[in-house]
Amino acid sequence: GIMVADDTARVFDAIAQQGGCARFVGGVVRDALLKRDLVDVDIACDLAPEETQAALEKAGIRVIPTGLKHGTVTAITDAGAYEITTLRVDVLTDGRHAEVAFTDSWLEDAKRRDFTFNAIYCDLDGTIYDPFDGETDLRDGRVRFIGVAENRIAEDFLRILRFFRFQAWFGRPPIDPVGAEACRKAVNGLHDISVERIRDEMFKLLRSRSPAGTINDMIGFGILPAILPKLIHTDCLRIMQWLDSTALADPAIQPDPLRRLAALFAPGGDRRNSDDDEDNLAAAERFARDLRLSNEETDRFAEMVAHAPLIDPKLRPEIVRRDLYRMGAAAFRDAVLLAWSARAAVPPRCTRAENDEWKALIEAAANWQPVKLPIQGRDILKAGLAPAGPRVGALLRQAEEYWIDRDFQPGRDELMDYIARQITAGDEENE
Ligand code: ATP
Ligand code: MG
Repeated sequence: GIMVADDTARVFDAIAQQGGCARFVGGVVRDALLKRDLVDVDIACDLAPEETQAALEKAGIRVIPTGLKHGTVTAITDAGAYEITTLRVDVLTDGRHAEVAFTDSWLEDAKRRDFTFNAIYCDLDGTIYDPFDGETDLRDGRVRFIGVAENRIAEDFLRILRFFRFQAWFGRPPIDPVGAEACRKAVNGLHDISVERIRDEMFKLLRSRSPAGTINDMIGFGILPAILPKLIHTDCLRIMQWLDSTALADPAIQPDPLRRLAALFAPGGDRRNSDDDEDNLAAAERFARDLRLSNEETDRFAEMVAHAPLIDPKLRPEIVRRDLYRMGAAAFRDAVLLAWSARAAVPPRCTRAENDEWKALIEAAANWQPVKLPIQGRDILKAGLAPAGPRVGALLRQAEEYWIDRDFQPGRDELMDYIARQITAGDEENE
């Protein structure tokens, strides 16, 4: 059954008080059957949305009418938010939007859902209503469309990506050829889906435990090339698989969707080639922007992709420390994981000794103690070495380079001397 908080029971009771019936549906039931932690809670209900809203308010529960037209209100309680949607049928669909009508038939409501295991309902007391035997499909790892796959996809092309997303999470290979073939035929419909929705589905997929197999299916059935044309690195699957096996073997490294996306994108070309390097950065940024990643994600993604080809486990320790200082340990580790995977996944692969070298880089990141430049702008001002202004920043950056080049050893006095010398040298040059 589903572990319910008191607040959840209050929501169900409030609806029952008005003569309605509420049942859990969707992810919350799936996750309960699989004994996973709950994320968001969807509830179906046979009251009209306004009635639901009134019932909840009468019971003193805060309600936000999040989508009255589509039949959805959100109940806000201390235990969290509950999306409560009136039973409905989709009367008209154009592949993107559905016009809906409300119904009091639980079966009609089930039929408009996408996959059999997404149409399992559950009472507050744990009774299951499972009109399409989704529980068996869930247990067998079968992602099965309700009704005829072609028709269901044509109603809403996002279901193509949901199919693969649920395959990654709950499917057992091989992928269902009927569903996958229907997706292949409808792939052009994805061009009508907004980039944001594609991005969200892809990230959900890339958060699954081990997405490489499903990514492989998505390439095979022509889905990935349709949504991320620039992405596909010829060795991406092997790279992602290797990345995941390494990451999964180390409990300190959490699976990470952005790193996996970078693995798909991983540049394999020349290392330490500054021209290529710039192209990688620009290409990665463009790719991330096209996918509407946030600024923060874009920066992280681009840094990873651009820096990975520069990393070599034979780098001298001071170079490694410099990278750690400049990038921070997390970003450095991302780049190392990516570079290591790109090297280890494709022939000639890595020897055991080489793998140990890569591991040492991961450890260097884990053990990195951040260091701080021992001087600040105001030290330069106080010593009267420069007036307030841009010159101070420039001198500080020069001192930082000097300090990094000497492996963070110079102390405050040596750095101030260095700055004084720079000024003298500059003055002589100007004469
Ligand atoms: P999660 O919340 O973990 O992403 P979920 O299955 O709960 O998974 P939601 O997007 O929250 O997915 O949708 C809740 C339910 O609504 C689904 O389980 C499904 O029954 C139905 N649903 C959602 N999107 C669609 C869709 N595009 N087509 C058909 N039914 C859908
Ligand atoms: Mg959900």
